[in-house]
Order: sequence, then C-alpha cells, then structure tokens
Amino acid sequence: MSYAKVLCVGLVGVTGHLVEVEADLAPGLPAVVISGLPDTALHESRDRVRAAIVNSGQRWPNRRITLNLLPATMPKYGSAFDLAIATAVLGGSGELPLAPLDGVVILGELGLDGAVRPVRGVLPMVAAAARAGWDRVVVPVGNAAEAAVIPGIRVRAVDTLHRLVAYVRDGSPLLDPPVDLPEPDPDGPDLADVAGQGLGRRALEVAAAGGHHLALLGPPGAGKTMLAERLPSILPELDDDAALEVTALHSIAGLLPPGGRLLRRPPFQAPHHTATVPSLVGGGSGLARPGAVSLAHRGVLFLDEAPEFSKGALEALRQPLEHGRIQLARSGGGTEYPARTQLVLAANPCPCAKPSGDAYCECSPLARRRYLGRLSGPLLDRIDVQVKLLPVRAAELMEVARAGESSAGVAARVALARRAAAARWAPVGRKLNAEIPGPYLRRPPWRLPVRDTAELRGRLDSGSISARGFDRIIRLAWTIADLDGRDRPGREDVLEAIQLRTGEGT
Ligand SMILES: [Zn+2]
Repeated sequence: MSYAKVLCVGLVGVTGHLVEVEADLAPGLPAVVISGLPDTALHESRDRVRAAIVNSGQRWPNRRITLNLLPATMPKYGSAFDLAIATAVLGGSGELPLAPLDGVVILGELGLDGAVRPVRGVLPMVAAAARAGWDRVVVPVGNAAEAAVIPGIRVRAVDTLHRLVAYVRDGSPLLDPPVDLPEPDPDGPDLADVAGQGLGRRALEVAAAGGHHLALLGPPGAGKTMLAERLPSILPELDDDAALEVTALHSIAGLLPPGGRLLRRPPFQAPHHTATVPSLVGGGSGLARPGAVSLAHRGVLFLDEAPEFSKGALEALRQPLEHGRIQLARSGGGTEYPARTQLVLAANPCPCAKPSGDAYCECSPLARRRYLGRLSGPLLDRIDVQVKLLPVRAAELMEVARAGESSAGVAARVALARRAAAARWAPVGRKLNAEIPGPYLRRPPWRLPVRDTAELRGRLDSGSISARGFDRIIRLAWTIADLDGRDRPGREDVLEAIQLRTGEGT
C-alpha cells in the first residue's frame, strides 16, 4: 500500500467544503510535493508534519511523497490540513492501517513536537462535514466544545498526533468534548440604565425597528456611547441560520468564547478610531481574519468619534455597507465574508469636543462643518436617523431616577414593528423598512397622500432637505407607524420622522 486518502475541510469565505487529502508514496529521491492550490501556510505544512511524525516516534518514509488536495481548483488556506496530511502520509507508507478512520473528517494543526493545536474556523468546517453527510470528526481538543455545537455530529478530540496514532493502531481512546460548559454570559447593558434622553431613546427604538443606520451627534456627556451599546439589547435574537453564520465568523476570527455555544445575541463591535483598514474589513495572511464589519454581521457596528477615523478606514466601509458583504483579495482568488450590519456612529459637533455654545469651544463654524464633513459621502449619506443630543441635564437625571423603561419592554415593541414590516414587504422579498428603495415608496400603493406630506414637500421645495433626505424621512415614517401599530404613516408620523432626521425640536 503506497496510497492513502483522508477527509478534511477547507473554508471558502464562511463556507466549508470537503477536501480529500491524498498521499502517494513512490520510490525515488526523498521529497514532498504538494499540489491543489496550497497557500504559504500549507507549504510550510511539509516541515511541521515531518517533524511532528518523527517527534511522535513514527518513521518518516524516505520516499518521494506526493500530496494532492482535492478539489484541486479550490484555494486552500491555513494550517487545519496538517493532521489529515500526517495521517495520510502514515497511511500511505503502510505504517498505519487507516480503516478505523474511514469516513472520519480530520482537522487540526500540528506543532513540531507532535502536539495538535486549535485552528480557526472549526465550527463552519464541522458544519460543512455534517452538510456533506459525514457524522464523525476528529478535532483539536481546544476546538472540541465549538465542534460539538453542530448537531448530529460525533466529535472526538486529540491533543497529540500520538493519541490519534494509538487510537488507530490499538483502539486507545480519543478525548471527549467538555461537558461542563460555563454559563452563558449575563445579558449586556440594559436601557433601564439610561437616564433621560427621550429623543435618543426614541431614535434607538426607531433604528432598531426599521433596521436604520443611526448617527448620534452631540457633545461629550450626551450619552451617545451608552445608547449605542444598548442597541443589541432591543434587537430580536438571531434565528438559527443567522446564529450559525455569526458564530462561524467568530470561529474563523478565533474569537469564540470558550464553552461552545451558538451566539444568539446580535453582536456589537466598537473598533477604536485608530483601527487599521484590515482590522475593520478583514485580512491577514493564511485564512483571512474577518474584520469588525463582519464580526458585526447581523448586529451593530459602532464607530465612536467617527470623524477621527482615517479617511481610508471610512472609505473601506463603503463597500460592505452597500452590499452587505466584503470581498478580500487573496492569493489564488478572493475571499468573501458577510457584513450585513447596522451602523451606529457617534460624533462630537466639533474637533475640540467641548460643549457646544459654550464659552470653552472656540471652533469656527467652518471648522465645525469641516469636521462633520469628513463623514459625508460614503457614510452619512446612508444613515436614516441622525439626531442631535444634548448633555443630560441634572433635572432629567433626577426625573428618570424613578424609572427608565427596560430593554425588554422596548424589544417587545421592536419585534412587533418588525413583524408588521416583514409581512408588508414579503411580496418584494424584503423584511426591514431600511431595505426599501426610496422610489418604491413614492409610487402607489405606498405613496402617502399630499395632505400628510405637505411640510416635507415644503422643505424639499425650499431646498432644506434633499430628494434623498425626503426618501429617508418617508422610510422613517413607515417605521414610526409600525411601532405605533398603524397600517400607514399619517401626518404626525411624518413630522416625527423629520425630527429624527434633522434633530430639530430638541
Ligand atoms: Zn469646538
């Protein structure tokens, strides 16, 4: 026997695909050739596998070894193929009878000492194995809990190559995934903690209900960050498909909390304004790491002090915000990650960040315009709700010390509003008001009667709002109507929408 085949999984974006690792050993000068679109990490696998085999007390076959990873047309990234390659080499050399591993998918990186190290992306890899009809996997012990999240799969774990060899050779036991999982994280921050801020709270609720991007403008102390952090607490939990997708992205980033559990809460990502472009949109060598915009997929991306982000960083967010996915250039092809996120950005009204209208701020009107102008174009244009918040006054703090409505109460209204919108837009295949193109809302049967939009039309005619702003306000009016349980927006809804768009009346 000088040929062996072992099952593994490679990732293309967030989707796993079965990979067959073939090893053929032929007489001739000792050498190792790898084919099947390997990347650098996989080329380096030769040295790791060789050292791991020798240091596990096995013989390295001094023959010409050809390794082929199928399908050959699929690019392979990262080091998760190591363990399968080592197993195939030992099987092909006749050292190891591989019958016990028939139909078993093998994942893991090898250390030079023969230790099996955790890899990123095990969850989508195991999901792919299950989808392809395989029900047994061997994974690094550090990934076992994560692998066990996928139902219908028998997960066994290894800490060393030696343990796998001993299992195949004489039936020594493999390791089981941990059973004593830590308790899930306690719930995040709650809206009950937010004092006052009637307008801010309403803006947050409307943004949540319609899936609208949100801009919070105001001086320090206005509670912008507090509000933003609480948006996930009023969004619906992720359904099964979304939870799997979100958990897979965190798995690929190597950021899953220990314990192995599907992420059910919409994620919240708040990259610092010094964040690099790759950390925002993804990148890195080997298996590309998802960036903040993908880690916020189906959740919230919060840019605090948004004008302080570099121009390149803001520009890089344009594509994912527009398309709901991000394409990363890789050797051998591109990688695409989902990035459908709700953007919340916060900004001070001026570069000095001192209270506005205050004697301390000496920024000129031009400096202020320029500062916020950095956000225009790619970002601000896409944001439906733009409110100006004032510092929370002491009186408000006292008043709301009595009771701020909790997130659970707001979330219930948001869920009802979303249901109403989803039912209305089902025929056009959309769910959220934010996804409805403006022109669509201007046509019958959705066009609002003139008597309800008179103020809005006046503003359009006078040039105080743009045509695009007009569409955004109409969209918001629909969300407000949904929240208040009306079939269609009326004049009052349009007026409130104007306020949420322009920040007036505060
Ligand atoms: Zn200033």
